[in-house]
Amino acid sequence: MSKCHHCGADVSFMALLRTPNPLKFKCDSCKEDVHVDKRSGLIAVVAILAVIIPPLIMLYGTEHYLLSVVAPIAIAAEVFYFLLIKYGLVKLKNE
Ligand SMILES: [Zn+2]
Repeated sequence: MSKCHHCGADVSFMALLRTPNPLKFKCDSCKEDVHVDKRSGLIAVVAILAVIIPPLIMLYGTEHYLLSVVAPIAIAAEVFYFLLIKYGLVKLKNE
C-alpha cells in the first residue's frame, strides 16, 4: 500500500483527481508534493492512454459525447491509475 513519504498517510483518490500532472500530486493530509516514480508512472500513463484513446476516437460524435463518453472513461482511467499507485504497481518516490 503506497503512502505519502512525508506524513505516512494513504494516497487518496481525490488527491490524484485534483492534480493536472499524473506524476506529481499533493498529499491530502500534509499538502506536500508527492512524486510518482517517473519510469513506472509514465509506463502506466502511456498504457492507460493507449487503452482509452481508441474508444474516445471511435465514439466521437456520440450524443452527449463529453458527458456519456469522455467523463466515464476519464474517471475509469483515474480510478485504475489510483489503484496502480495504491497497490504499489506504480511506485512513489521515497525521498
Ligand atoms: Zn503527506
